[in-house]
Amino acid sequence: MSPLRPIALYNTLTRTVDPVAPLVPGVVSLYTCGPTVYNFAHIGNLKTFLFQDLLKRTFLAAGYQVRHCMNITDVEDKIIRDSQKEVDPAAGNEERHRAMRALTDRYTAFFLEDLAALGILPPSYSPKATGHIPQMISLIQELERKGLAYVREGSVYYRIAGLPQYGRLARLDREGMKAGASVDADEYEKDAVQDFVLWKAAKPGEPWWDSPWGHGRPGWHIECSAMGIELLGERIDIHSGGIDLVFPHHENEIAQSEGCLGHTWVNTWVHGEFLLVDGEKMSKSLGNFYTLRDLQAKGCDPLAFRFTIQSNHYRKVLNFSLDSLKASDNALKRVRAFRKRMEEVGAPHGQGAWKEAVEPLPRVAQAREAFWAALADDLNTPEALAALFTLITDLNAQDDRAALTREERDEVLKFLDETDAIFGCWPHEELRADAEVEALIEARKRAKAARDWAEADRIRDRIKAMGIVLEDRKDGSVSWRRG
Ligand SMILES: [Zn+2]
Repeated sequence: MSPLRPIALYNTLTRTVDPVAPLVPGVVSLYTCGPTVYNFAHIGNLKTFLFQDLLKRTFLAAGYQVRHCMNITDVEDKIIRDSQKEVDPAAGNEERHRAMRALTDRYTAFFLEDLAALGILPPSYSPKATGHIPQMISLIQELERKGLAYVREGSVYYRIAGLPQYGRLARLDREGMKAGASVDADEYEKDAVQDFVLWKAAKPGEPWWDSPWGHGRPGWHIECSAMGIELLGERIDIHSGGIDLVFPHHENEIAQSEGCLGHTWVNTWVHGEFLLVDGEKMSKSLGNFYTLRDLQAKGCDPLAFRFTIQSNHYRKVLNFSLDSLKASDNALKRVRAFRKRMEEVGAPHGQGAWKEAVEPLPRVAQAREAFWAALADDLNTPEALAALFTLITDLNAQDDRAALTREERDEVLKFLDETDAIFGCWPHEELRADAEVEALIEARKRAKAARDWAEADRIRDRIKAMGIVLEDRKDGSVSWRRG
């Protein structure tokens, strides 16, 4: 086996770029906060999932195994608000849960379909919050035992004054913290640093679970702590999310997990920057709000969107525009045309005789080194891609003046495969299609589970249009072949 390439990342906790040294050599544990499934993901959300896919693929290509957990938040304030709107006021708890599940299953299916279209690798674990309520309850009980949680009117709150390191991630001013004041909402601003809610007493008209504190439901922050500890363990290498999650979500995750465990929970915190559209914050009222579906309806290739995101450094604000998709389309055409050229047997054209000759094999080695040096330095994708595009320019010119040999072409193709393992935008067509079919089958399964037959049929038609024959087996599994 080839040795592991060291990768360094900007750690929000230390504010420095540090090499990642996994606790288990060669195996990276990665927790990424998943979607809240009450609506379609917008392209700002998708930017985060795409940067995390790049992060994960970089470790995989560098020789590591990655244990990746991405949760599905399927109980939360906005989910309850939207799912209970049309439920009969006299409905019982079971009916309320059913309504909530119908909404979350439906949007989980849409979300998985988006991931498939964008070529995002599926996580090793994708736990649903509602499947881990007992773990959340015992975590909160442990915090109570340690004096870090208290009950008030059936809700349980975290006592932030009890944890000296509270505020370290977001660099909060501890002086300004108001002791004893508490906040019930899951999301709040930095100037409202207060004791936050772990368990919420049920209000009339809300679905609930039984708990030692009466009927209620978990707060959003406790969900990730419970699922992360359950599936990845008491020490995690990397935890990631969008920059807006630093406070309060990740600060509170640390408080809960470390308050319970009594030691550091996560070594490296990695956050991706915002996305603007046409220079402004995305909002429905400005008319610059997009989902992936909106872009697809305009005829955009999801991979062009993927490339637009990946070619920007994840820690820089990305100013997205529809024009940037066109530029990505052109860049991808260039790589794919070059791949095709390398797959074919070349004939010298003599056109580039005036250009300086390059030696293809050493030139590829040089590009590979530059590509990896850039990625290993906090995922510097603009520089990594510059190494690739300069190579393409040089070798197109060289192939014009004297056709590359088969051996040289194969070495170039090998490098293109290596770069595609990370960027996922210029694969062998068949490989790309295989991954997409698998992911669509999973999305269809979720749609069926949600009894959303129209969506399940729509996905089936999409799979069919790709020339794939599906066979539903009696045991519920699905096999497929090319028709
Ligand atoms: Zn989270």
